[in-house]
Amino acid sequence: MTRFKIAVAVVMSLSVQGLLAQTPPPQQPPPPTQQTPPPQTPSAPPAPAAQPVIPAPMVKSPLPTGRVTYRTLIEVNSELEWLAKANPARARRIELPHKSVLGQTVYGLEITHDVNVSSGKPVFLMTGLHHAREWPTVELTMEFIYDLLKNDGTDPEITGLLDQVRFIAVPVVNVDGYEMSRSLLIENKRRNCRVSAEKFITFAECANPANRGLGVDLNRNYGAFWGGSGASVSPTGDSHRGTAPFSEPEVQNIREIMSSNQVVVALSNHTPDAKVLRAPSANEEPIPADVVPYDALAQLLGGDLKWEAGPWPKIYYTASGTMEEQAYYSAGTFAFTFENAPGQRTFHPPYAFVIDQYLGTGAYPGSSARAGYMRLLRAAADTTLHSVLEVKAPAGATLTIHKSFSMDSSPLLLNDNARDTARGETLKFTQTLDATFVVPSGAKQVTWHVNPSLRPSQHAQEFLQETWAVTCSFKDKSQTVNVMVKRGETAQVDVSRCR
Ligand SMILES: [Zn+2]
Repeated sequence: MTRFKIAVAVVMSLSVQGLLAQTPPPQQPPPPTQQTPPPQTPSAPPAPAAQPVIPAPMVKSPLPTGRVTYRTLIEVNSELEWLAKANPARARRIELPHKSVLGQTVYGLEITHDVNVSSGKPVFLMTGLHHAREWPTVELTMEFIYDLLKNDGTDPEITGLLDQVRFIAVPVVNVDGYEMSRSLLIENKRRNCRVSAEKFITFAECANPANRGLGVDLNRNYGAFWGGSGASVSPTGDSHRGTAPFSEPEVQNIREIMSSNQVVVALSNHTPDAKVLRAPSANEEPIPADVVPYDALAQLLGGDLKWEAGPWPKIYYTASGTMEEQAYYSAGTFAFTFENAPGQRTFHPPYAFVIDQYLGTGAYPGSSARAGYMRLLRAAADTTLHSVLEVKAPAGATLTIHKSFSMDSSPLLLNDNARDTARGETLKFTQTLDATFVVPSGAKQVTWHVNPSLRPSQHAQEFLQETWAVTCSFKDKSQTVNVMVKRGETAQVDVSRCR
């Protein structure tokens, strides 16, 4: 209770300092765990007296927050809360709908001008920490959040882009895994805490050395092409796919962000292999129907990072059930993976490498994650890379855009040894996309930035000729129009008779 009051007091005092304080919120110790602390030597002699301890001067980095150490989960969550309170018109904390396997809430942050006002802005989604031990991905995502808020209003490009784009960040997708790794209980953990089929799994069960070989690889659990090459059938496999497409709540969270927003650009941050990756990630996929503009953006990002860029199987390895497969094949989202902080033989090198990776300095000259993130923000605003609906509708009406269709897993790999010879059935699942937009008072027409209605096929290099159902609802009346719109096109939609 006392701790809670202190935390609230800290938040309040930081809030009244105005928009963004010069210093980030105070750094806190690692999260409490149910494990015993390091043993104290019971008979240790008292410390020698009278030797004054002179603390080293606090070192400040050139990162937006000046940080010099990796955050804990508690710090990430309290910073997201504080940022939203300190910036109510431009930042909104979101609580994702599904609690983690251990019952923890997963948080994100939305940033745009007038963040609480319904709008038709295109969305850029950025995630960190699908994989527990990849700590730099949390830092890079958090620092970009601060960067946007700190430079909004002074940097003309960032200010302009926050007029145009809604940025959604989820810094820690795998919250349970992060606590296991960041606390050093299981420093090299990759997967989530699905260590038992029981409904309720405890922190202690996840931390138990006997269960360390278990868990689901969250970047193998998305539905599109789930169960194919580059994912393990075995519960002890490091890339275990899980028991079904979207079996894990942490993955359902990201799926639902993508199905309830018009995410036109998405990035999944990982470490440590110096690659910019795009779909296809698995051998089962065709060449993407959008390969020309999709790859062009990948190559520009590769230039920003000075890394090789391209499809997974060609420049990396194969993987099925990845975030970019789900994003691209469900909605046509241009989705990527960054393999950050390379060359240090670890998934979380000393913090200096995070600083250098963000800025493209020191160990990574000219290889700036920030430059890549800015390019993606610009790409989200670029109307040649998504679609636009100009919708005539009465003020105060609620507009919805809707699609529902069937998607496929891969033909299921039946065991880990027989790679591509023993295959089972292909699972089908229903994917629904829904987003809403309330027409502001005084308006007769609104601009809605959306993904193309044409959907890339999972089976050939071609588009499925689908439409969006655009519905206007006003009191007890409604009107629906089906619209076909390609990437780069603007479509006129008249639903003004819904009043
Ligand atoms: Zn990873």
